[in-house]
Amino acid sequence: MNVLVIGGGAREHVICEAINKSSNSTLFSIMSNKNPGIEKIAKKHQIEKETNIPSVVDFAKKNAIDIVLIGPEAPLEAGLTDALENQGIKVCAPSKKAARIETDKEWMRKLLKKYNILGQLKFQSFTDDKKAKNFIESLNCEVVIKPIGLTGGKGVRVYKDHFSNVKQAHQYVKEVLEQKIGGHAKVLIEEKAIGEEFTLQAFADGNTILPLPLVQDHKRLQPGDKGPNTGGMGSYSSADGLLPFLQKSDYEEAALILQQIIEALNNEGCAYVGPIYGQFMLTNDGPKIIEINARFGDPEAMNVLPLLRNDYLDLCLSMIEGTLNKKKLDIKKQATVCKYIVPEGYGVKSLSGKIIYVDETKITESGSLLFYASVNKENDHITTTSSRSLAVVGISDSIDQAEKQCEKALEGINSDHIFIRHDIGTNTLINQRITHMKSIRGL
Ligand code: AMP
Repeated sequence: MNVLVIGGGAREHVICEAINKSSNSTLFSIMSNKNPGIEKIAKKHQIEKETNIPSVVDFAKKNAIDIVLIGPEAPLEAGLTDALENQGIKVCAPSKKAARIETDKEWMRKLLKKYNILGQLKFQSFTDDKKAKNFIESLNCEVVIKPIGLTGGKGVRVYKDHFSNVKQAHQYVKEVLEQKIGGHAKVLIEEKAIGEEFTLQAFADGNTILPLPLVQDHKRLQPGDKGPNTGGMGSYSSADGLLPFLQKSDYEEAALILQQIIEALNNEGCAYVGPIYGQFMLTNDGPKIIEINARFGDPEAMNVLPLLRNDYLDLCLSMIEGTLNKKKLDIKKQATVCKYIVPEGYGVKSLSGKIIYVDETKITESGSLLFYASVNKENDHITTTSSRSLAVVGISDSIDQAEKQCEKALEGINSDHIFIRHDIGTNTLINQRITHMKSIRGL
């Protein structure tokens, strides 16, 4: 089958590797930057803006594409799924309407309320800054301020992390409204959930979900969870599919929440097909929904897809055909630690155009995996852009071993102008998470 993957980040690189393992697939790619890893395994690729719908549809038709997988959120919001399906091409990704679960945060919160879904937080949206200020005061300033539209995870401001009083909160609300941050003069104010964050990703076929192992991402730039929010600096998962600070019942509750959301979307006439991503805060009162994404997470896709023994193309077809209830996931019982290599200055002002030397043999010999993200290729080396450059994933029996393996693999990457959060997956950081969660739960 001719399979087209849309997107050129590390998430899409791992998706391409998963598809490439399938004996029945020939890989095609459309990406806005040339990902050296995807370029190597795709039969054909085109450098193209992923939201350029006429071009993508044209490419799919000309290359007799049977099925399309969409990695990033922007083409979902632009309606790429619908446009391809109108041409009779199968797509394993949600429609524009179903993707509103990610692209319209206010609609998402209202849907949760309408269907009485577990794990809700208090919220209200505002176009008037003074009314927003009153709501912030009513919640004692313990709020999170979110632009309504997509901001790549970078427009969110959290009480105590980014502002410490109502005046500062009000100031940011005004900024969002005046500058239309996220594309709209509207802001969402949510109750701040306190606890440990985790990600649950699942496959969905409109009715059924098959949940994957849990992952914990690290959004903050600096070690110890300091500094600005980023697209994600790295992540880990545990061999048992849970996380060291969390119990099986928490996992089951999060899976139930995703199942309830799939059923709600079905009821609304927009059945959800494709991978779905739930970001949760584990609080004293169970998991609360922070965000739902209409796709895999980046980095989290790199923690789960390499563990999948099932044929991924077969699973994608099953999502489209609505037959996931007949499938069972076969997942390796191993831990993973993913660390992103980012350009120096990333999150503030990236130094782009700087050389990174990558010794692929050394990385592979360590047992780790390498996924390229946003880089430019020049002769025998690559150079940084302003976005995340590449990621290394250690895979072993325990988080500790996977972390050590990942660090060994990182010795194969050399540059004077990169930054890595080396604390991700270390015992010190994991023990902090466990202690934090115990204190939240009053244990
Ligand atoms: P988002 O773009 O919605 O994923 O938000 C970015 C980050 O802000 C999340 O990873 C959380 O750490 C934090 N955050 C967002 N919403 C909340 C909330 N309601 N309570 C606590 N933290 C939040």
